[in-house]
Amino acid sequence: MSRMTTPHVHTYHCTFCSHLLLASTHIISALPTRRAPGLDNATIVPLQENTESDSDREYTLLLTLTRDRAAKVVAREDGFEKRVLWRCGRCKLIVGYMLDEEKRRGCLYLLPGAVVESSELGQGEPEGQAA
Ligand SMILES: [Zn+2]
Repeated sequence: MSRMTTPHVHTYHCTFCSHLLLASTHIISALPTRRAPGLDNATIVPLQENTESDSDREYTLLLTLTRDRAAKVVAREDGFEKRVLWRCGRCKLIVGYMLDEEKRRGCLYLLPGAVVESSELGQGEPEGQAA
């Protein structure tokens, strides 16, 4: 019976300007992160491409993210990686990136702390107030 329930959709906002950026059935804080030699601990967000079997149950929508036209080459311990950066549609802060390789198009890498879930918005003050 519980199969028929609609998955709960979480919405995520830009940490910096609170603009709504993403809607996803995934809990971003519970998704795996990149390990070395990726080094940035970015969260790996699967997009619905090439996961047809469960595409109706799990999905991620990029709502107001904008994508850089040019890829950026980033040096890693083991070589280089071409990244296409994704930014907040309002404040243009970089929130994540995709790898510029056909086979990995199915994932968005979100930078740590780049987004905040709606339910956490406005709850308490940000850390580090002791200035
Ligand atoms: Zn923003």
